[in-house]
Amino acid sequence: MRRPLAAFACAAALVLAGCGGGDEPASESTPAAPSSATAPVAPESSSAPPAPDTSAPEPAAPTSAPPSRPKAHRVRDVLAISVDGLTPRAFDELAPDRIPAFTRLLQEGAVTLNARTAVEQTVTLPNHTGMLTGRRIDPDQGGHGVTWNDEIPGSTVPGPDGDGVESVFDVVHDAGGTTALFAGKTKFATFERSWPDSIDEFEIDGNAGALVDDTIASLTADKRRFTFLHIELPDVLGHATGWLSPAYLVAVQDTDQLLGEILDAVDSTPRLSKRLVVILTADHGGPAGEKQHDAADNAANYTIPFVVWGRGIESTDLYDLNPDYANPGDEQPSYGGAQPIRNADVANLATDVLGLGPVPGSEFDAQQDLVFR
Ligand SMILES: [Zn+2]
Repeated sequence: MRRPLAAFACAAALVLAGCGGGDEPASESTPAAPSSATAPVAPESSSAPPAPDTSAPEPAAPTSAPPSRPKAHRVRDVLAISVDGLTPRAFDELAPDRIPAFTRLLQEGAVTLNARTAVEQTVTLPNHTGMLTGRRIDPDQGGHGVTWNDEIPGSTVPGPDGDGVESVFDVVHDAGGTTALFAGKTKFATFERSWPDSIDEFEIDGNAGALVDDTIASLTADKRRFTFLHIELPDVLGHATGWLSPAYLVAVQDTDQLLGEILDAVDSTPRLSKRLVVILTADHGGPAGEKQHDAADNAANYTIPFVVWGRGIESTDLYDLNPDYANPGDEQPSYGGAQPIRNADVANLATDVLGLGPVPGSEFDAQQDLVFR
């Protein structure tokens, strides 16, 4: 039987005590929530939206991967994991033997602990939409337009024109692969509503242990090409007790336990150990001792890890591998000029690993030039 997750029990106790723990507080939501729940409204300028200032290539057809790409490159599957509210500073606070799964990923993978969120916002739903679409947030600049951070019943990803955008799920599904999305927060229903035909398995469960159990069952049984898993534990405890608090660090350890179960499943399943590439990042971090993370100009909020791990991937620094990407130091660069590695690179790193073309209309890693080995 599973050992109860200490932080999850703590979170449940906090909920019972009235802290409201499981979801983002309303105060961090929404610079520009859509005015209609059922039909998010396009910006006034939608008749002629400006193009993103980074040119994305015309969308490639799903079958148009370069013919020179080695066949081995095309038989990989992807598990993308977003650990909600994971600041890399947690790794400074926890000895490696307390977080063996994170330690393994960090030691064996292509890694940076200095990746970046979106520029515009450091909250959950906008950043996850970036991970799934490869777009920035601002719809006036070609972004996905999810500027709110609550579950708004009926809402969908509006895109620049109000009529939606494509996602990594669409690219995989159009190429004949199947997909799954497992998440800990109800607001992820936005994605099921946005791409109902392209997400084959969708589950929301605030019990992270049960959610990961189901993710492992899906990975081992269903031959998913692309799976996205959202683990909410650090964010919940961060809001309740402060980032890097003892309870927050326990939540990171609990997350580590769940990641360990996933890695065990990969190790013991030949198909997964041969094929699966794990991409792990976060939607945002959080400042030590504080219970909010919505200041987009705070380095503690916009600094996140980015890890690529799997067979054939060697232990390296992602910035060393990618001289065209610029290590941002302590800064949050704008979208002009050389880019840091961002969480929104997940979408097209995934399509690249899968041997598929980029997400149509995407901006980040749209050339699929982010190298991980
Ligand atoms: Zn949060």
